[in-house]
Amino acid sequence: MMTVAAKQELLNYIGGTWARSKASDSLDVYNPATAEVIATAPQSTRDEVDSAVKASLEAFGSWRMTPVTERVQPLFKLKALLEANLPELARTITEECGKTYKESYAEMQRGIENIEVACGMPSMIQGYNNEDIARGIDEHMFRQPLGVVAAITPFNFPGMIPLWFLPYAVAAGNCFLLKPSEKVPMTTQHMFRLAEQAGFPKGVLGLVNGGKETVDAILDHPDVRAVSFVGSTPVAKYIYSRATANGKRAQCQGGAKNPAVILPDADMEMTTRILADSAFGCAGQRCLATSVAITVGDAREEFTERITADAQSRRVGYGLDDGVAMGPVISAESKARIEGLVDVGVQQGAEVLVDGRGKEVDGFKDGYFLHPTVMGNVAPGSEFAHTEIFGPVLSMMHANTVEKAIEIVNARKFGNQACLFTSSGSAARQFRYTVRAGNVGINLGVAAPMAFFPFSGWGESFFGDLHAQGRHGVEFYTETKVVVERWPKEWSRTF
Ligand code: NAD
Repeated sequence: MMTVAAKQELLNYIGGTWARSKASDSLDVYNPATAEVIATAPQSTRDEVDSAVKASLEAFGSWRMTPVTERVQPLFKLKALLEANLPELARTITEECGKTYKESYAEMQRGIENIEVACGMPSMIQGYNNEDIARGIDEHMFRQPLGVVAAITPFNFPGMIPLWFLPYAVAAGNCFLLKPSEKVPMTTQHMFRLAEQAGFPKGVLGLVNGGKETVDAILDHPDVRAVSFVGSTPVAKYIYSRATANGKRAQCQGGAKNPAVILPDADMEMTTRILADSAFGCAGQRCLATSVAITVGDAREEFTERITADAQSRRVGYGLDDGVAMGPVISAESKARIEGLVDVGVQQGAEVLVDGRGKEVDGFKDGYFLHPTVMGNVAPGSEFAHTEIFGPVLSMMHANTVEKAIEIVNARKFGNQACLFTSSGSAARQFRYTVRAGNVGINLGVAAPMAFFPFSGWGESFFGDLHAQGRHGVEFYTETKVVVERWPKEWSRTF
């Protein structure tokens, strides 16, 4: 099946109204499989960000006084609406982002999981208290919402990543403003149309399209209390420092280069299947994609044979076509950057075992396609070994012992994920205990935490302290108020 979406002009959603931006600049949105422009998104102005924040601030007063049991009701409705529209949402993700329909569908399901967790806000937002911290004096801790909070999201999960933030923010009593990636804004537009039907009061949700200028307007706005960000490390650092310098809370998730260690006692058939999906699924454009495979001892020969065979046989094509296992990368620039990085790897001593460059896909000659690529003999200390590629390129390294492999893992600046493949419980414990990464997989290639666990990036993969999802989300979007109270105590002698 192949369809091309009609070119769409994207709108902002401000104070419960869909508005055409007055911005003179707009950004084209491409279908990466066909290179056609399928939509245009405005570069919203400072004034438009200001209007959105003001509308949210106005809504905040009564939203925070709405009982939490009522605040979660529109989220229950949103979950049902998203589920009813899953096929269409998944098609939109594939059209603007390139991943396969199956991957897009699964992405939406992982996003919806966060709504389910946030619907538990009546329990999650509870504080705690003590009677008689001194004679006749009690102490309570309440969690209160912050006010207007904002999120800035990346291109690779247009449906899921906004849902890492929106449900927790609004269920906790905040008003929420989203600036989606300008490369993939159509999915969010659709999701906000559904959120409108779900019955959130006007101003509780806002959507402004745009790029850097729109982001800067959010970061500088005095009434935005907190900023959540997901994207590349240089931008994460920039956003974290500008947001916090402006007195805001910030949680900024950055880039990654995730290693997987393969021990000789691993089940090689399963390991290859899982790691091939991790490295080449979503065309390697997952922040939890495995991009470095470190074989230990005798694992080298068999794993190399198996993974190169898998890479060569993976079917690449348009994500809406049946049987396609891998779609294109996001843009022409991205494709050129990845191809160039393979050359850099070769200059730094690596060997191309499977070259995915320069191969066309039938019927899609303009699309931004690369095929899976495997690089051998990558030197752990080379710059190439530490550069995020964000494409379907797997780098192979080798170590003689598990200790040496862990040393290679721990010398990395990123700490988003590390995985181990083994049948030894002892090695698994050694790995999870000592490895420097916030998300760890044992015999898993994409250790994406469920919505009720924090998405725990470390190192250069995360700036802040409270992560996205679950209890961390509740803490990030609330501030604690402690009340110490004393009341006349005549009655105390009556029992
Ligand atoms: P990006 O950093 O280019 O863009 C992310 C967002 O920041 C977009 O909304 C964009 O408009 C905005 N932005 C871009 N440049 C900016 C600037 N100079 N100033 C202000 N705002 C700016 O990231 P991307 O290419 O959309 O996404 C891919 C990156 O995201 C990869 O590095 C990937 O590892 C990372 N990522 C990380 C996680 C995680 O959980 N750690 C999850 C998904 C993606």
